[in-house]
Order: sequence, then structure tokens, then C-alpha cells
Amino acid sequence: MRLASLALALLTATASAQTGCAQQTADAPPVVSDGPEVETLTLGASEVQVVTHRAEGAAPLAMLNLHDDEGTSVDAALDVIRAMGGQVVEVQHTGDRNVTFEVDGTSYTADPNRMFTDAGRERTLASLSTASPAALAALAAFADEVLAIYAETEPAVVVTLHNNTEDNYSAASYTEGASYASDAAAVVIHEGSDPDDFFFVTDAELFRQLAARGFNAVLQDNDAATDDGSLSVWAAQNGRPYVNVEAQHGHREEQARMIRALAEVLAER
Ligand SMILES: [Zn+2]
Repeated sequence: MRLASLALALLTATASAQTGCAQQTADAPPVVSDGPEVETLTLGASEVQVVTHRAEGAAPLAMLNLHDDEGTSVDAALDVIRAMGGQVVEVQHTGDRNVTFEVDGTSYTADPNRMFTDAGRERTLASLSTASPAALAALAAFADEVLAIYAETEPAVVVTLHNNTEDNYSAASYTEGASYASDAAAVVIHEGSDPDDFFFVTDAELFRQLAARGFNAVLQDNDAATDDGSLSVWAAQNGRPYVNVEAQHGHREEQARMIRALAEVLAER
């Protein structure tokens, strides 16, 4: 079971990250490795690429981008790893948010951040196309493979990268009376800030540390959160600390600033 291997990799990641820090010399220039590593996965009869960018450095950052239309987040993450080191894994297909794939001649569509639990796969396939047993199985196998590739980066904390648009989903969506209020245990939105730029976390200590640094943050209610198959729900179910670095499309500098702050917080763990 691939999910088990991610859990194992996460368990061992803290030790290896610490070793990496110890070996790093302060003045060694970070070097981006010879181009990204590309793995082609099959999803039903279709192909999806998973690209891993690596840069040498001390930062304990291993980030995952699931939505192919959220390029600001990848640009920001690459800016940071070029300077500090780290890894970025991105799912690439059509440039759209959702993946469309064929099984036995039938076309299906799913949201790749709703594919990590049985209930989520059922829901995303049913709402975007049809939840046939064959499509459910293909999507489950694909989700396992994406997690296995991400696990190779040995993330001590699961870090995902997302972008949103003005006036839609934001940290404000989790405040009292808003659409996702019941999914959140706590929300901090700093006065004068843009609520589109925020951290969504499953770990109370990380929530506190990031909010204390002046960033907007939402703490998932790990017991009450809707099982929508997103990676934050998978992380809570599997006891993994999780941080989504979420910013508005085009807020590349702010998102890079958020990632750098997260790297500092993770380095202190
Ligand atoms: Zn997204």
C-alpha cells in the first residue's frame, strides 16, 4: 500500500532533514539540479506527468502542487528553492484544475485535490462526471502514485501549494457564518491583510507559529472537517502535519514570502 510508504517516509524524514542541515555549509551556494525529473503516470488510458524540481540547500521544504492551473504557487516555490534549497513536485496535464481521463472508452473528470479518500473520489467523480467502479479504481491508483512520488522527497511536513481568485475562496470562507466555518477550529485574519493569502494547516502549533509571524491562518478542525478527499483531510486521517500555502493568483512575491517564513518555522521544529 503506497499510502503506508508515505507515512513511513514522513516518519523518517525528520531525521534525514536534520542530517541534511548538519551537512550543509553556510556559504555553499544552492544549486538547482540538472533539470526537473519527469515521471509519466497512467490514469485509466490517459497520461499525467509528475515533475519534481530539486535544488540543493538547507531548507526542509518539500512542496506539492496538485492543480495545474495554479502556476503562481509553483513560480513562487521555485523562486524560494533556488535561493534556499528544497523540492517542488507538480502534477502536469492540460493546464486545467481538473484531470480528465478515459477508462474503457468513457471519459471521466476529477479534481486532483479530492482524490485521496474513498468518499472524496466518489464525490468528485459524481459531481464532475460519473463515479463508475472502474473510474474510482483508476483514480485511487493514480492518487497512490502521486503520493508515492511526493513521499520520495521525504517531507517532514506535508506542504501543498494553491492559488485562488479574488472574492472567492479565502481565509474568510472559514469565519463564522461563512461556507466552510464548520471545517475550521480557528481562524486568524490580520487587519489590513488580504484574506486570499493564508496558510491552511492541520497542526495547532504550526497554526500558532505562522499566525504569530503575521500571516493569515486557518486551523482545520480535524475531527469535524468534511471528508472531501482533499490532502488536508487525508493528512488529518493519517496523523500527518499539513500546511497549504494558499495565495491569490499573481501574488508571487507574497506567496514566496509565505514559503520562506514556513521554511524558517519548519527549521525550528
Ligand atoms: Zn488548488
